[in-house]
Formats: sequence, structure tokens, C-alpha cells
Amino acid sequence: MSKLPIVSCPHCGKEVEWSVESRFRPFCSERCKLIDLGQWATENYRIPQGEPAAGQDPESGYQA
Ligand SMILES: [Zn+2]
Repeated sequence: MSKLPIVSCPHCGKEVEWSVESRFRPFCSERCKLIDLGQWATENYRIPQGEPAAGQDPESGYQA
């Protein structure tokens, strides 16, 4: 019996056993995985789709 490696969830830091049963490793759960990947995708691929780009300034960003 060998001890399984332990990794920390990149999103919340929770310890996760690196085993075939940890389906979402290195994340602790599907939720953390989706949140982390979602943030990554949102920040890196902010591509407007289905909207006319005329008159928009991509450098101005969003102001709340
Ligand atoms: Zn987590």
C-alpha cells in the first residue's frame, strides 16, 4: 500500500488526493475547476460575439 500524493486545489487550497477517484484533480471539486477555468477563459478571451464592433473602443474596458 503506497500513500497517495497530496496536492493543493489551485482555487481554494484544499488538499486533494492525487488518485483516479479525484476526477477533478488538481482541483478539489468540479465547482473549483469550473470557477478557475471560467475566470481564466473570461480574462483571456474577452471576445464579443454576435455584436457589431463598430464604434467600440477595446481599450476602454468596462466601467461599473
Ligand atoms: Zn477547491
